[in-house]
Amino acid sequence: MGNSPLHFTVLEKEDAIQALLQAERIDHYLEECHDDLSNSLARLNYAYQPNRVSSTAYYTNAFNQIVSKIPKQLHSAGEVAIVVLMPSADGGMPHTRPPNIICYPDLSGILHTGIITNSFVRTLIHELCHVHQRKFPVMWATIFEAIGWIPWRGEIPTRLDNYRRYNPDTIDSSLWIHGEWVPIPVFKDGTKPVLSDVEIWFYHATDGYHVKSVPNDIRIEGLPASAYEHPREITAYMISEPEQYIRTSEYAIIKKYVDI
Ligand SMILES: [Zn+2]
Repeated sequence: MGNSPLHFTVLEKEDAIQALLQAERIDHYLEECHDDLSNSLARLNYAYQPNRVSSTAYYTNAFNQIVSKIPKQLHSAGEVAIVVLMPSADGGMPHTRPPNIICYPDLSGILHTGIITNSFVRTLIHELCHVHQRKFPVMWATIFEAIGWIPWRGEIPTRLDNYRRYNPDTIDSSLWIHGEWVPIPVFKDGTKPVLSDVEIWFYHATDGYHVKSVPNDIRIEGLPASAYEHPREITAYMISEPEQYIRTSEYAIIKKYVDI
């Protein structure tokens, strides 16, 4: 483990329950989802609850073995709690909760093989970016502004808001603008919303229309469309897969702040 302040602890089920209760008191994520028609429908059959973990010591050790593969700057995330959720929770997608929790609906990859894959490390770095963003919001706001993004205080039209997919990693500050464009994740089928079936629309804040593909003036070469929903996602994608973006000007800017 060395001298790094970064340390992962996989929580026992009872501790995980308490950690999620504390998270909910901070971000009200489940309450917000419950109170919204599309977001509650999309999560109707998903159990958002901690799962029992066969050996938290084994998993804690597995996580801490890969600290050296994580960019140095992110080590200041410090103590990170890992909560293992039921496999269906939030559509099976890893995510974070405040103040320092990474939730994994599925750890079966390392359960069956004991081998830490590159894709597992990438996902961990991505989620760790979100924990770091929660802990150092001022630094990250500076990075986001440096690549063109500032928080947006306007209101999106009801016709878009009704189908907006909530994201636990951004729910505390969900709307940001780059130039005139405000990205909004929306359920593709508004009548049958599915968490994995989402696309990003771009609302033009001045003229009030939206487009369904990434506007040229905010495009970053190689970045998947799903990343544009929020500058937290854009930066998490770029930092967890730096080799893909090394030639972009945004990468050069991020690298001034985060030693990738
Ligand atoms: Zn993310």
